[in-house]
Amino acid sequence: MAVMSQRVAGFGTTIFADINDLARAHNAVNLGQGAPDFDGPPEVLAAAVTAVNSALNQYAPGIGMASVRRAIAEHAQRFYNQRLNPDTDVLVTSGATEAMFAAILGLTDAGDEVIVFEPVYDTYVPNLIMAGVAPRYVALRGDDWSFDPDELAKAFNSRTRAIVINTPHNPTGKVFSRDELSMIAELCLKHNVVAITDEVYEHILYDDASHVRLATLPGMAERTLTISSLGKTFSVTGWKIGWAMGPAELVHAVNQAHQFITFAVSSPLQAAAATALKLPFSFFENLQSSYQARRDRMLEVLRRAGFKAFKPQGSYFIMIDWRGVAPSRVQDDMQFARWLIEEVGVACIPASPFYRDSDKYLGKYFVRFAVCKKDETLDAAARRLARLGNI
Ligand code: PMP
Ligand code: GLN
Repeated sequence: MAVMSQRVAGFGTTIFADINDLARAHNAVNLGQGAPDFDGPPEVLAAAVTAVNSALNQYAPGIGMASVRRAIAEHAQRFYNQRLNPDTDVLVTSGATEAMFAAILGLTDAGDEVIVFEPVYDTYVPNLIMAGVAPRYVALRGDDWSFDPDELAKAFNSRTRAIVINTPHNPTGKVFSRDELSMIAELCLKHNVVAITDEVYEHILYDDASHVRLATLPGMAERTLTISSLGKTFSVTGWKIGWAMGPAELVHAVNQAHQFITFAVSSPLQAAAATALKLPFSFFENLQSSYQARRDRMLEVLRRAGFKAFKPQGSYFIMIDWRGVAPSRVQDDMQFARWLIEEVGVACIPASPFYRDSDKYLGKYFVRFAVCKKDETLDAAARRLARLGNI
């Protein structure tokens, strides 16, 4: 008897689990999975404790607590001047991950196509496959991970139902520019396509990069579903509180799926999200400056170790090209990641899992390091990586 459904049989194990296991087995400094090894702001943690002790321990409304939906809408207004009705335009989900899956289930039909940029964050394509939807890939290439406008235009066709845009981008650190997003917007309008954006790294930006919310470009408010979450901005990735925002019609469609996936999301942690989202500007400024210091430092460490490192404009991540540093028996990104864990004692994430099978070769020379770590973790990684170069 075939136990596993055909739907999931091709999936394999997520690379994050594999690398965590290997890193643990070899006691490596783990710069793999994008999760901080430090805690979120004390006032946000305290708000969760208070909520637990204030009898907020039963089901929340399926669409999310009113106070939280209001805080999400206020945050969108404060940072992007985006106007949302908290009663109809906001849905609280179990992290951005559930928001994306519910969005795909609620906004596409089997047989449709959805455009994604490759390298692509690892949940989107399995989500599409589970929904019976065909992914259509557009490549991000070169030192700035740009896309070819003609390739993008050609990806749109009569079957295209939606396009997924992740900015700031995991794994490359690319921040889509206003011009690039305008190009995408024009095509969405021309082909009557919905945009689904994953903006979980919206507050982690470097140098003079700025985050443009696609939903705020002309004509896009009506056709964009914006997804974000608490995990990255407030360093609580284990809380899994996310949200989807946009016009009532889109949000309602997403909720049609959400109500039968998770129904409702953890009440006390949701309640704490309201506290988090209302933190003063100084919190968001400090977040950026602390990440800027981590990125600058690790960029230097990786370059001194001999790697070509791509300078990220946003996100937690630095992609590098490992050629020339590893011994010649190391032939691809998977072997490199294994070698680095076993021989150097540092864990990173190979890039090829972010590519479809026929494009794996494009990720073969790249791996991704996460910088969302304490100083002492980065110190330990720096000491080990220094053995590779001549620091
Ligand atoms: N989207 C991207 C691009 C991510 O990198 C991550 C997590 N690392 C997520 C979504 C998942 O977010 P959440 O934990 O809120 O589900
Ligand atoms: N999104 C995180 C990353 O890219 C990890 C999330 C996960 O483990 N699925 O590293």
